[in-house]
Amino acid sequence: LNLRALAEDLLDLFLPRGCLGCGDRISPEEEESLVCGRCRTLLRCPPAPRCPRCDVPFGTGRPREALCLECESWPEILRSARAAVVMEPPADALVHALKYDGWRSLGSLMGRRMAEVCIQVSGGPLIVPVPTTSRRQRVRGYNQATVLAQVVSKRLELPLVDGLLRSHGGTQVRAGPRERREKVAGAFRVVSSARSRIRGRDVILIDDVLTTGATASSAAVALGEGGAGSVHLLAFARALPFGSGKRRALAG
Ligand SMILES: [Zn+2]
Ligand SMILES: [Zn+2]
Repeated sequence: LNLRALAEDLLDLFLPRGCLGCGDRISPEEEESLVCGRCRTLLRCPPAPRCPRCDVPFGTGRPREALCLECESWPEILRSARAAVVMEPPADALVHALKYDGWRSLGSLMGRRMAEVCIQVSGGPLIVPVPTTSRRQRVRGYNQATVLAQVVSKRLELPLVDGLLRSHGGTQVRAGPRERREKVAGAFRVVSSARSRIRGRDVILIDDVLTTGATASSAAVALGEGGAGSVHLLAFARALPFGSGKRRALAG
């Protein structure tokens, strides 16, 4: 029993507050909600056309069949990536509130959006969250990806396996693509007790944000070494590589 999480959930219920997306007061008919109706409608899925593998929206005028610079360096085992929404207001505020401010209960809204994303995985895949470092998890009391994975697992009726361990590579704020890759390379391994469950299975890897895919790549390689057949990333938000300026912080 996580007393800290329980206390926070109780506080969520009783403290008056504004919308976690925009800060405005939530109207009485939306009182049960942490996010106002306007913010919910502002959450938009990544615009088409997108890369068939990594789902990044291609800029205007870019041929659909062009080599995608976003995912060409990804390991083969990481077959695809999908995200529910674009990392722009208010999605960035929600990611921050879940990741840094202890708003664990936001996970149900975010996880539900993720569960609606269509992922092409045959058979019965496993749901595996991207772990954070143990130090960060101690500070926060939970891993945000696990919170999202629990919701996705329930909605899609797929088994959740907390099968990865992370040894380093926790902080990526302001890291460039190369630094990011170097920082998370070799950061993950499959926990030995999960090996038999992961062997030969396809995995839906869950994270809050997809930025360059460096974290997902590293986790996917570890899952492959642990015997997974393929890995598909499902994230809540996709940081757009061009023009959004949102890439610096909240990296995943
Ligand atoms: Zn709002
Ligand atoms: Zn791509």
